[in-house]
Amino acid sequence: MQDSKFNRRDVLKGALCGLAVPLCAPRSASATLPKLDEKDPQAIAYDYVADNSRVNVKKYPAFKKNQTCGNCVYVQGREGFWRPCTIFPGKIVFHKGWCNVWALKTFK
Ligand code: SF4
Repeated sequence: MQDSKFNRRDVLKGALCGLAVPLCAPRSASATLPKLDEKDPQAIAYDYVADNSRVNVKKYPAFKKNQTCGNCVYVQGREGFWRPCTIFPGKIVFHKGWCNVWALKTFK
């Protein structure tokens, strides 16, 4: 005869279901966003390149090699090679990329 409304099996099932939800949930919003294509008209408008070693230094003589999406004020988050950027909503940019609105992020 059981004294409580729940037996040990029901409690265990509930605990396992609670654990399963976070394990099955998507890792992050950026994991589902498409990568920004350099041929995208908006990317072309901002001269975005996924590799900053390909920046046109004749066109942008003030460019420095340490300027990357990874340390730009417009990139979101600090983790991952590909991250959302507020200049290109709905897309993710490569951390070694660059575009002509780059501005240094001040890390706190
Ligand atoms: Fe990269 Fe910054 Fe340009 Fe976004 S705004 S693409 S993070 S350089």
